Amino acid sequence: MPKIYMDYAATTPLDGKVLEAMLPYLTNVHGNPSSLHFTGREAREALDESREKVARALGADPEEIIFTSGGTEANNMAIQGASRAFKKALSPGERGHIITSSIEHHAVLDTVNYLGNTGFDVTFLPVDEYGLIDPEELAEHITDKTFLVTIMTANNEIGTIQPFEEIGRVCRENGVYFHTDAVQAIGHIPFNLKEQPVDMLSLSAHKFYGPKGVGVLYLRKHTKIEQAFFGGAQEKGLRPGTENLPGIVGLGRAIELATADMEEKSIRLTVLRDRLIKGLLEIEDVKLNGHPRKRLPGNVNVSVLYIEGESLLLSLDLKGIAVSSGSACTSGSPEPSHVLSAIGLDHQAARGSVRLSLGKDSTVQEIDYTVEAIKEITARLRKMSSVYKKQSFL
Ligand SMILES: *Cc1c(COP(=O)(O)O)cnc(C)c1O
Repeated sequence: MPKIYMDYAATTPLDGKVLEAMLPYLTNVHGNPSSLHFTGREAREALDESREKVARALGADPEEIIFTSGGTEANNMAIQGASRAFKKALSPGERGHIITSSIEHHAVLDTVNYLGNTGFDVTFLPVDEYGLIDPEELAEHITDKTFLVTIMTANNEIGTIQPFEEIGRVCRENGVYFHTDAVQAIGHIPFNLKEQPVDMLSLSAHKFYGPKGVGVLYLRKHTKIEQAFFGGAQEKGLRPGTENLPGIVGLGRAIELATADMEEKSIRLTVLRDRLIKGLLEIEDVKLNGHPRKRLPGNVNVSVLYIEGESLLLSLDLKGIAVSSGSACTSGSPEPSHVLSAIGLDHQAARGSVRLSLGKDSTVQEIDYTVEAIKEITARLRKMSSVYKKQSFL
């Protein structure tokens, strides 16, 4: 049986070159970067070097890079940290205002919801049928109490890429911080934060062939956030505790590799993606979710009507093909994902959604094999479906 991995949006395999870069820091170089002796200094040098690599990849200054335990922590640090800092400047009883979108990752959504329950006002901007935010609509919602806009660069379920520079410009014109969850975008979208109007950005190594459990919060100079953790001076006191050095070294190497030949790699993936979309849309009653062009190069999300995405996922798994139904983080819960609801899918279409995400080891053969497998499974599942029979007799 083949083993076909089409779930790169959930996580990616560790690149061999990244592992190679990490190995010394899991073995010989065991020092604590805060120690003054020789092995501490070796560790400190590796930490600094990795910070420089990240800064170079983003067009940032090394001092703007805060290492975290991943995307979730970076999002929490940015959103909660900015909220606490802003609250200090308010008089008692005054409420700060946060704007986000209705299709954020749960790491943003749940954080913002928590703040909404603890003294802040929150606006969830709607998106259009493709999952796009309208920057003009954003501008209309900004008030004198708005201090933070947090909108993702690219969506993890449907792959839609937001006009994040325009969103950033609206924020800047209005003197509001702009945070973007760029976890899905790194390695696919060129960043130059010297020029792009972004104040805070989150990324995570395991989404671009780095190790799990390590990420970055980019924090533009003079952006004020309050610390959430206490107990050390590491990462400017914002993320105290001994650094995850092997992970950080891996992240540095991974972002270096992810941003090299980015355009070439994106084009290759886009060709594969569009072949997969074309093949799937040839099946009767299959619809593409997300924008046809403004989407991540490796993302395919379709609704196979009259069947359950979950059943399709399990049947594909039996054939050695790994895909995701809804969002990986929400599967197991019977509710259709908030993203699919926000783009206006009806219950039927939302239930039949599957995400196939491609990456560096994906091949044309895998795409063609998967299309055939989905054709066969869909025909079989629909034959058993009472809903489908009723529809076809109409
Ligand atoms: C994966 C993901 C996260 C969470 O990152 P972790 O490093 O797994 O905590 C956050 N946002 C988006 C868009 C993601 O795809």
